[in-house]
Amino acid sequence: MTSSEGTFLTDQQLTMLYDKSVEVICKRDRRFAPLPAMWRDKATAYWDRIRLKYNGFMIPYRKDFNGTPGSAINGNLMGLFFNASLHKKTKKPPTFSYFGNQRLMVNSSFIVNVHQNIYFVDFYCHNLRDHYVTLVVARPGSVVDNFCQRNLKQINIFNNPFLKIVNGKLYVTLGANIEVFYTDIVDVNRVVHDRIGRFSPVTFRGMGSKEFGIAKNLSCKVCNLW
Ligand SMILES: [Zn+2]
Repeated sequence: MTSSEGTFLTDQQLTMLYDKSVEVICKRDRRFAPLPAMWRDKATAYWDRIRLKYNGFMIPYRKDFNGTPGSAINGNLMGLFFNASLHKKTKKPPTFSYFGNQRLMVNSSFIVNVHQNIYFVDFYCHNLRDHYVTLVVARPGSVVDNFCQRNLKQINIFNNPFLKIVNGKLYVTLGANIEVFYTDIVDVNRVVHDRIGRFSPVTFRGMGSKEFGIAKNLSCKVCNLW
């Protein structure tokens, strides 16, 4: 985890990315909407493998190179992506997915809550239109959290432009797509058994994620630093 530390975006560059993301959100849509759940879409085979081979444990995997080149988490941090992007009009999760046909919906407070630290790490797009903000959550004091403290930008869970707790409930911005990189193991059997989450079918569209992630669109003036 430390081998390539030092080649990441500087604090100043990270702050510039953060500022750019806030600028876009302010221009596009300043509203927040309630976010009762976050979700992870994968193919049936993925969930079957977790059930049959890993006793229901969903193990964090190494972050790919999707997003901004030089982002500290690329190829370094282990985690699981959860989607928190609501449709601007319906304020609901999308009814289709690029990643698979089975959706695990979990209570959003299971992923993001006051017992975790939350960090801004990236802002990018692939097509100049849909912009993504990547957040990381980590258990305070963990190895991952120490890494985040050194390399990412910590944000206040009660007051930030992306995803925040208001009166005990989570709200998400409608001005950008928000993805959360959760850095702990998830016991899927327990989540379903305790009704923290449930599976539902979703329409699969597209090719799924690429092995090394899709590179950021470097021609976009909105989300690039140079
Ligand atoms: Zn862009």
